[in-house]
Amino acid sequence: MREGEFLLSDLKADTLRLILGDQLNGRHSWFRAPDEHVLYVMMELRQETVYVRHHIQKVLAFFAAMRAFAHELRQDGHRLHYVTLDDASNSGHLTENLLQLIRRWRIKRFEYLLPDEFRLDQQLRRFCESLPIETSAVDTEHFLSSRESVQEYFGGKQHYRMESFYRTMRRRTAVLMQGDQPMGGRWNFDIENRHRYDGAAPVPAPLCFENDVSHLRELLEQEKISTMGETGDRLIWPINRQQSLALLDYFIDVSLPYFGTFQDAMKQDQWSLFHSRLSFSLNTKMLHPMEVIDRATAAWAQHQETITLPQVEGFVRQILGWREYMRGVYWARMPELARMNFFEHRRPLPHYYWDGRTKMNCLKRVIEQSLHKAYAHHIQRLMVTGNFALLAGIDPDALDAWYLGIYIDAIEWVEITNTRGMSQFADGGLIASKPYVSSANYIHKMSDYCQNCHYDRNAKFGERACPFNSLYWHFYDRHRPKLAKNPRIGMLYRTWDRMADSARQAIRQQAEQYLQDIERL
Ligand code: FAD
Ligand code: SF4
Repeated sequence: MREGEFLLSDLKADTLRLILGDQLNGRHSWFRAPDEHVLYVMMELRQETVYVRHHIQKVLAFFAAMRAFAHELRQDGHRLHYVTLDDASNSGHLTENLLQLIRRWRIKRFEYLLPDEFRLDQQLRRFCESLPIETSAVDTEHFLSSRESVQEYFGGKQHYRMESFYRTMRRRTAVLMQGDQPMGGRWNFDIENRHRYDGAAPVPAPLCFENDVSHLRELLEQEKISTMGETGDRLIWPINRQQSLALLDYFIDVSLPYFGTFQDAMKQDQWSLFHSRLSFSLNTKMLHPMEVIDRATAAWAQHQETITLPQVEGFVRQILGWREYMRGVYWARMPELARMNFFEHRRPLPHYYWDGRTKMNCLKRVIEQSLHKAYAHHIQRLMVTGNFALLAGIDPDALDAWYLGIYIDAIEWVEITNTRGMSQFADGGLIASKPYVSSANYIHKMSDYCQNCHYDRNAKFGERACPFNSLYWHFYDRHRPKLAKNPRIGMLYRTWDRMADSARQAIRQQAEQYLQDIERL
């Protein structure tokens, strides 16, 4: 028999508990003590590998982390049935498999942890309604706010703003607080933070693991799972709690002292700069957000000479603020969020999002890096790939599928809110107060991409003019009826109106030509 297998006659369990691939939280109250009446089940499902085309490292990381988690639970004495992708009884479909197991083992009660994805939430709800046995859904004990928190907080408002939600979370959790006031007297240190990388602090080599995934790679080939991106036989991403904690410690020791300062910087020979790369461990729940925050604030309290308040606040804001807020927005606005397309953009995604073959150096570098590593940091996603897609009018459906496939941490609740909401303004301003778009100026200010580019960052039109420049003005010009009333954009329209007619005409023509030739840029 393989590890953890058992005979039907041995089985005393009458309760089946489902653990999904992003629910690898060993400290959940379910696992406090083994119970012979409970059988846990984990499954590698074809349905999860095909809803978009995923990066190969993402599929490998999920399966490897699931297998490691199953092994740990069994070692702790829990009874667990693990269905591999190639298991003869695996239909590839979540609820079909569950039904089979419930019948086979004459299960009397089915329990599951609340999924973070709307799609799975609906699937499991419907499944439970159809079952003739008792069922229940249990909280994952992972997030710091409830599913409903954002909806309750903002009520029926048309715009939600992260900043006020974040302040409430700081007060509620007492993180970086002195009584009712923020430490240092300010909630936000963005002015001190967000510099271009100036070389003052050496960039630490990213901590990469060497997890042998050759057997899983073969399995994906054998099962003809279609993926994108590249991998070797060694996976660099953490696949268990021990590795996740090592990555957290490494981040705190070497990167946190510069996190805030360079959080928006981009550099073409550095793929993660001072970022934590903890999103996979967090999103699979191998790490709890509060333990990450506690470790960071404790390190700050002990080493204030090296880790300043703006660095640690910048980091806490991402997890206590953005991460919780995005999850709340997701549950407040699904499923409509997945259909929102405020600008009615319909253009297909250009081929270079899949192969990196473009003369625009910023896009080329970020996409190539994403294909190599299944990772790009926030500003690379927001201000390079997202920025270009919004300026060019790419269909948010196509873009969602791309972001949901390519990144190691991509799970819909956090991908779609960031893509449709923050990056594409497809929600009409529910999340962002204005579209995150820029010309070459911002990209040049925050990176070294423009130095090696075929295009001229200073030119708005003419041969070799940077496409971001004319597309930027073209975007605002074509969407004027929808944006003119936004008070944060008025100044920009005044600048556009002050330009000479001939300059405006040349910019429009340049942008239109680039849009026609978009596959050749
Ligand atoms: P760090 O920069 O080290 O930040 C620390 C942690 O803060 C992250 O691990 C993450 O958990 C959290 N965080 C930071 N920014 C955000 C944010 N905007 N929303 C939610 N949490 C945040 N993040 C995902 O986890 N999954 C996604 O699928 C995803 N898709 C995105 C798509 C687009 C278009 C954009 C603009 C952003 C997306 N993000 C996504 C948010 C962010 O880019 C990633 O969380 C971050 O780059 C992960 O790298 P890191 O762990 O090194 O983060
Ligand atoms: Fe990107 Fe334009 Fe800079 Fe080239 S010049 S790297 S296309 S912003």
